[in-house]
Amino acid sequence: AHLDRIAAVDERVHAFLHVDTEGALAAARSVDERRAAGDELGPLAGVPVAVKDVLTTKGVPTTVGSKILEGWRPPYDSTVVQRLREAGTVMLGKTNMDEFAMGSSTEYSAYGPTRNPWDLDRIPGGSGGGSAAALAAYEAPLSIGSDTGGSIRQPGAVTGTVGAKPTYGGTSRYGLVAFSSSLDTPGPCARNVLDAALLHQVIGGHDPRDSTSIPAPVPDVVGAARLGATGDLTGVKLGVVTEFTGEGAEPGVMAAFRESVEALAKLGAEIVEVSCPHFKYALPAYYLIAPSECSSNLARFDGVRFGLRVGDDGNRSLEEVMSLTREAGFGPEVKRRIMIGTYALSSGYYDAYYGQAQKVRTLITRDFTAAFERVDALISPTTPFVAFPIGSRTADPYQMYLADLFTIPTNLYGGPAISVPCGLSEGLPVGFQIMAPTMADDRMYRVAAALE
Ligand code: GLN
Repeated sequence: AHLDRIAAVDERVHAFLHVDTEGALAAARSVDERRAAGDELGPLAGVPVAVKDVLTTKGVPTTVGSKILEGWRPPYDSTVVQRLREAGTVMLGKTNMDEFAMGSSTEYSAYGPTRNPWDLDRIPGGSGGGSAAALAAYEAPLSIGSDTGGSIRQPGAVTGTVGAKPTYGGTSRYGLVAFSSSLDTPGPCARNVLDAALLHQVIGGHDPRDSTSIPAPVPDVVGAARLGATGDLTGVKLGVVTEFTGEGAEPGVMAAFRESVEALAKLGAEIVEVSCPHFKYALPAYYLIAPSECSSNLARFDGVRFGLRVGDDGNRSLEEVMSLTREAGFGPEVKRRIMIGTYALSSGYYDAYYGQAQKVRTLITRDFTAAFERVDALISPTTPFVAFPIGSRTADPYQMYLADLFTIPTNLYGGPAISVPCGLSEGLPVGFQIMAPTMADDRMYRVAAALE
């Protein structure tokens, strides 16, 4: 049924870069056979799932939305994908994204934009716009995203779906094509909170193949979502982030947010205001740290080891082939990030830019730590604005960066955060963000399920 739905609508939505029809049918048949044989089945046996094209899939094309990896079929599965298979899910295919997950609208995909099912002339958010649009268009019931600065939550917000960024290290980065290694976090996308929790439970937990993986079990996110669904938040203390509720957000977004805050209070939650004075520096700090790490990570795309190779005619030097390959293979936003990062890391500028940004990161972490001494979770709108028209923010990179104003602090800190739909503004979905302390992912699911 989902393959039929994809065939019917994806020409217009373009959520998928690759539909693995054969693989999906084979996986579905194998679940049927094992069920018939009385085998024990995984917790999500037979449930279709779409996977952001940033995660390696054995034998199935993985492009990261970039020409530089066009045609690459990885020889191995990422841990997240391996766990999806073990849980019995049926992988439908790979979803569209901004090239190397750098962007906020999926317009920077080398394979053309994804469209928002709510209004096909608008963006579905980014970088994981494909994973969110696939849910909103009913092409998949579950999908996987990755969140470096908001790329799971922000597309969730603007497509009226749920997106959760787990605690950094709570889901494995093994086989996640690296953008910014100290921030990248794979996570679940779904149409409701319980589904997201069920998916989170399956993909999360310690992985010895990722040195930054936390050696602890997944917090009880499913139990928390079920508890939240009872609608009782007595004893839960929530902090509205002062810095994220002043200017910066559209009035319609703020109105929907305020209404949801009132709804949470009615469910018994205690609401207070919490100031996080350093959050206003999160965006500039992120746009030094993320490009710095990207400039280092993307050095591996040298035209030798993976994917594209340009100009290798037997007469050119290795350096010429590398530079021709990278010139042709990377899009403008990726090149901009590599240049910013290389500059920020260069000797003479390191202390002024990268070093300074790292200090700001520490101050932001302290804001979170101080806040969580007072409240159980912090709340804000997920994005400052609803889905914008395709093409309206590509001329000025800064306008695009602003889309992640409210999501980025969490990545710098490393904690979990979720976006859950909270009504409409001008007929378009608005997202509500809940940020929790590291390894307290269960808390955000409880609040999100209550709000839903
Ligand atoms: N929009 C942010 C960026 O362009 C975040 C992307 C992400 O989370 N992958 O870097």
